[in-house]
Amino acid sequence: MKTGIFFHYQKGERLKDFPQALDGILEKENLFLYDAFYPSKPPSSFDLDPVPTDLLYQVHSPEVVEEVKRTGNFEGALLSATGTVRAAEKIWAGEIDNAFVFTGYGDHHAGTDFFGGGCYFNGAAIAIRELRKRFEAKRFSIIDTDAHHGDGTWEIFEKDPDVFYACFCGNPVREENNKVNIHVPSRVTDEVYLEVFRKTILARLRAFRPEILFWNWGYDGTKGEYGDIGLTPEVHISLTRELRKLAEEISQGRLIIVLCGGSRRDLARFLIPRMIGVLVDSR
Ligand SMILES: [Zn+2]
Ligand SMILES: [Zn+2]
Repeated sequence: MKTGIFFHYQKGERLKDFPQALDGILEKENLFLYDAFYPSKPPSSFDLDPVPTDLLYQVHSPEVVEEVKRTGNFEGALLSATGTVRAAEKIWAGEIDNAFVFTGYGDHHAGTDFFGGGCYFNGAAIAIRELRKRFEAKRFSIIDTDAHHGDGTWEIFEKDPDVFYACFCGNPVREENNKVNIHVPSRVTDEVYLEVFRKTILARLRAFRPEILFWNWGYDGTKGEYGDIGLTPEVHISLTRELRKLAEEISQGRLIIVLCGGSRRDLARFLIPRMIGVLVDSR
């Protein structure tokens, strides 16, 4: 497997140890780092150019784009979405098989006409619309294990049966048009969580056969986090293994992990290098 890492420098605590925390992994033969330095770095060292602003309008209304500009977070939000879009393009082109996207801002609370909860632009949605526009791509899946409901992603693809979206959160069970909400209790063990995960979506994903599998990965449900539902850090490693294996089976190994919620720096430092290790190592 060839793995791409998409990274840009950003404000805030949680990713302060990166990219240094990837030392020891970046030397691996099949690992490629695409980085953009934010907010300023000599143009010659940009590998990851921000996507053109037009792409945003494939998903978001012009009003929302203008509002995001007024928050002062436009550049960081654009680079966050850029990582996901470029990951999808490079996977489609066969340059890489799977990817981990570092984001400054998540994407699942960003919808057509709204944004919030630290999400401004919906990177996965933009990537899907862009691949469909430029290539023959059609069917995609998004698995969302952030602790909160992905209201933006749900709204954007509500009427689109060619996107299978599975959201694991505290909201009630709901299903329509290949969008499923899987209720997760407010306290769970890793075992129960993994059991729910396996029982509810594995068969569905095997039947759906997406061309690319996106994983909106949040670690905010981990013990001690702001969305704590009792999960331990290990559950994220187990999920990475399961989704990598599943992607090999159903989507030619094409898997994009998009960082969503989570705030603790120690957890980011512990989890992300290990998850990338799972992506890149062939078993
Ligand atoms: Zn969240
Ligand atoms: Zn949900």
